[in-house]
Amino acid sequence: MEELRFPIYLDNHSTTRVDPRVFEAMVPYFVENYGNAASKHHEFGWHAEAGVETARKQIANLIHAESDELVFTSGATESINLAIKGIAESYRSRGNHIITVATEHKAVLDTCKRLEKYGFEVTVLPVDGEGVVAVDDLEKAITGKTILVSIMMANNEIGTVAPIQELGRVCRERGVPFHTDATQAVGKIAVDVKSMNIDLMSFSAHKMYGPKGVGGLFVRNASPKLKVAAQLDGGGHERGMRSGTLNVPAIVGFGVAAKIAEAEMAEEGNRISQLRDRLESIILAQVEDASVNGSATRLPNNSNITFKQAEADKVMMSMKDIAVSSGSACSSAEPKPSHVLRAIGLSDLDAKCSIRFGLGRFTLEQEIDYAAERVKEAVSSVREKRMRYAS
Ligand SMILES: *Cc1c(COP(=O)(O)O)cnc(C)c1O
Repeated sequence: MEELRFPIYLDNHSTTRVDPRVFEAMVPYFVENYGNAASKHHEFGWHAEAGVETARKQIANLIHAESDELVFTSGATESINLAIKGIAESYRSRGNHIITVATEHKAVLDTCKRLEKYGFEVTVLPVDGEGVVAVDDLEKAITGKTILVSIMMANNEIGTVAPIQELGRVCRERGVPFHTDATQAVGKIAVDVKSMNIDLMSFSAHKMYGPKGVGGLFVRNASPKLKVAAQLDGGGHERGMRSGTLNVPAIVGFGVAAKIAEAEMAEEGNRISQLRDRLESIILAQVEDASVNGSATRLPNNSNITFKQAEADKVMMSMKDIAVSSGSACSSAEPKPSHVLRAIGLSDLDAKCSIRFGLGRFTLEQEIDYAAERVKEAVSSVREKRMRYAS
């Protein structure tokens, strides 16, 4: 039995630990093969470029794309900005309408908001109580002026997996470019850009046991060719779509992370979803008024639970040896209830009483048992205090 190390990390939707195999593969690209991948006239450059191209293949294989359909960026936020703003700029003469969904990551919602300032019109589709968008709603929302649909593959708070293949088919039939934020999905569940009818897809290395600061944007190459206007101008790297010297060590790590995911994803998903189910069954059996949010069709590593009358920030403060997250993006002093939990119909209070557990590759069964026990204690202590103040 492995010894438990504290705090226990159950926040793998925020970021993941770099897999030691990934780290090992990156090291030589800092200290030996430190060339610029764009240097064409010496060996340092050639080695760096070879490292990048190997990674490009490894990542393309994982998502069933071609190597030359991949643009390296600094992360999913940049990929999303490039996809949405780049398409908006290129297709402005065709129309000004963009469709997205209420439960998207802020990187998508805020990018769309920015475009509204420049005269674009954005339709935000609702979701049902499980966080699923209706294919029918998308079909009805598309107009002659729609130039982009952006719908996430898997939600980062409740794990709900969208019917991407059908959504993509609707877009393809109507000739509208389809972008998906697959940051939580790539490396966790099977992703096939071809069979899923995806035109553009954003994802990030640090959500799949790779390093921070590197991401990918898949841009479909088949005709009619998509035009994505660069948002960073400069040396014309990445086929003109994203200038700037490539982060070679990080890209090499991203590639190895993709290779590992491809080989181990199916088995790992099974193992992790069993641990997740174990966590939920212990909590639901032992904690009153606890309910699981989301859909049966969700990420294997996700569990989002509402503990009525127990504010998540207080619960988390009373179990500091467990690293989890509340549904809300607690960036401001006054934590707003999660827009995702509000979109699936939770009240403000219930949304603030919800905790996200994000399991991962390195999660152990003993950690789950320990965490479940701590959650049980923390929730009852918060509820007791609440009762005392109320009386
Ligand atoms: C983490 C995340 C992002 C942002 O990714 P970065 O690489 O950190 O910029 C975007 N979308 C989703 C769904 C995410 O989980």
